[in-house]
Amino acid sequence: MSASYDPKLAAALGPAALQAAVDAALAQITDAGDLEALKAARLAHASDRSPLALANREIGTLPPAAKADAGKRVGEARRAVNDALARRQAELEAERDAHVLAEERVDVTLPWPHTPRGARHPLTSLMERIADLFVAMGYEVADGPEVETEWANFDALNMGPDHPARSMQDTFFVDPPEAGLVLRTHTSPVQARTLLERKPPVYVVCPGRVFRTDELDATHTPVFHQVEGLVVDEGITMAHLKGTLDHFAAAMFGAGVVTRLRPSYFPFTEPSAELDLLCFVCRGASVGDASRPCRTCSSEGWIEWGGCGMVNPRVLIACGIDPERYSGFAFGVGVERALMFRHGAKDMRDMVEGDVRFSLPFGLEV
Ligand SMILES: [Zn+2]
Repeated sequence: MSASYDPKLAAALGPAALQAAVDAALAQITDAGDLEALKAARLAHASDRSPLALANREIGTLPPAAKADAGKRVGEARRAVNDALARRQAELEAERDAHVLAEERVDVTLPWPHTPRGARHPLTSLMERIADLFVAMGYEVADGPEVETEWANFDALNMGPDHPARSMQDTFFVDPPEAGLVLRTHTSPVQARTLLERKPPVYVVCPGRVFRTDELDATHTPVFHQVEGLVVDEGITMAHLKGTLDHFAAAMFGAGVVTRLRPSYFPFTEPSAELDLLCFVCRGASVGDASRPCRTCSSEGWIEWGGCGMVNPRVLIACGIDPERYSGFAFGVGVERALMFRHGAKDMRDMVEGDVRFSLPFGLEV
């Protein structure tokens, strides 16, 4: 026996002591419910200060004959603990990964908590598009009030006090009656306002809302939109009017559109004409052919889009412009009708009810 041999310490190397250390280690490893607990078990049973590590160190104190035997026992004990640690580590990591996958799973079938996005109203987009078209031709965009004076809405446009358009059937009058105010029945009062404010040459376009006492149905609405155009300059003729309207119609409905000016009467233009478009559906083929009726144009071959004419000299005089020097043309077209022709919208009510399902298919056209 060597002098350095300490029986007390060497007792830690006995089979019973080693088995007790292994049992304690395996119990704590098995009980470790998570990686933190396993880390504590590793510190307690497999670190440099663990009982088995201390026992390993004791081997050096043994007599040479005992070393091999003790070394084998300690080695087996440490291997058993390390194997158990590795197995439990793998189990706990697999559990953690499965937990993370379950916790952080994204269910792509869940309802999307989004706020539905609307769309601009197609009438708004269309009016801006029309304004852009005329701005590109050098026009200015003019504006006027929707509550208008009777003078600008009627008198300045050569509609005297006995004109039928002033009757209660067509016009919303604003109380009190002596104020002389109406909801404008057309965008034409902007003509009078423009001519009072500006000196020729005048090239303006005015998209806007107008009001008539119509019931709301598939083809009428008490609130609708017009685009008014007005040109006053030296040497303006009906040919300028026709060319401008042809360009306008082609930009709205495509290069193949055919226009027609049909003689008509408006108090504020002379001569006056209705602006017709060749029917988009039958292109005139339904006229006089009972076997091919056309609902779009009622088999008339043409559909009406608006009115136009040369500015009546009396309007120029009312606005202080010399009709001997200046002449001009004016036109007004319905924006709702343009939307119907362009997109096949058939019912006026769809345009005023504000149902987003009507506007959405038009997208965010700008
Ligand atoms: Zn037709």
